[in-house]
Amino acid sequence: TPYHAADDRYTKQEYRRTGHSGLDLPAFSFGLWQKFGTDHPYATQREIVLHAFDLGITHFDNANRYGPPHRSAEKFFGTVLRKDLAPHRDELILSTKAGNPIGPSPYHKGGSRKSLLTSLDHSLRDLGTDYVDIFYSHSPDLTTPLEETVGALVTAVRSGKALYAAISNYTPERAHEAAELLRRAGVPLLVHQPRYSIFDRRPETNGLLKLAAEDGFGLVVYSPLAQGLLTNKYLDGTIPPDARAQNSAFLSADDIDDTYRERATALNEIARQRGQSLAQLALQWVLRQPQVTSALIGASSTWQLDHNTQALDFPPLTDEELALIDQHGVH
Ligand code: NDP
Repeated sequence: TPYHAADDRYTKQEYRRTGHSGLDLPAFSFGLWQKFGTDHPYATQREIVLHAFDLGITHFDNANRYGPPHRSAEKFFGTVLRKDLAPHRDELILSTKAGNPIGPSPYHKGGSRKSLLTSLDHSLRDLGTDYVDIFYSHSPDLTTPLEETVGALVTAVRSGKALYAAISNYTPERAHEAAELLRRAGVPLLVHQPRYSIFDRRPETNGLLKLAAEDGFGLVVYSPLAQGLLTNKYLDGTIPPDARAQNSAFLSADDIDDTYRERATALNEIARQRGQSLAQLALQWVLRQPQVTSALIGASSTWQLDHNTQALDFPPLTDEELALIDQHGVH
């Protein structure tokens, strides 16, 4: 069936300014890390992506690696872009990343100009677009001079193949250096993408939140639901048949232990008393930080998207509730 975007899509999301830039991002962005490879049915994947756009989710996060196999999530998105979303390209913020390994070639990993710029060209071909909105160095590469990695991001932007430059998984120290180098080149750092959730508070403790405010970049935070651990799906100790913990290199049955269940059950009770779900509490919790521009979520159904994007419909978390969450949330 042909796709017609929902007319009311821009009434459904809050949009937040990214650092000191001029770019607004939706409070929820959609990531294609898991379940958007060739291992899942195209029709379901397409339905989820188009539903996200109908909910006002304008930002779709990709990487050369996402699949399986590597590159297949971008190829999938390229098909949807060509067939359904092409009329809306100027309403979409597409990101991609390079630098994490995608094969045995020395040029298929790391932060060299060769690795980053050839991967970007490949991603543009797979996505079927002339430019991405945001181009990331996926992880720091301590064996490559930061000047070279940053220089590749600058080239990507100057050549028009990316509109903005970004980094992910960098320590605050290295992020600050990258921000300085980019500023001097006239291509300010738009975004840092760290992991952040009730179960992973590193951005609070390592100074990244503070640095974002000082250096003027936004944070687009990944795995805010700790890949599903901060939902009610694993609370009874069993793993539902189609859940990520069934079949993922990054989340396993070992993560669902007694300590986890105790903590998640306590957090679930705090959420229940607020009239929301644990997933909604966890998303509201990351988005309470003004430096967090967007929570980057995955979803394996349109139900999850509908449910999760209602997280901001609840009253703000009180100091008392935040203190309670602190008691249970250190995982
Ligand atoms: P989340 O922590 O939001 O986990 C999302 C997963 O949780 C869903 O795919 C679904 O998995 C499950 N889920 C979501 N909502 C519910 C619900 N209401 N009830 C039950 N289960 C639910 O984020 P991700 O870990 O998926 O990461 C999001 C994005 O962040 C990625 O797609 C990627 O774009 C980016 N990312 C970036 C990284 C980087 O290095 N820069 C690393 C990791 C992610 P299921 O139904 O399959 O169990």
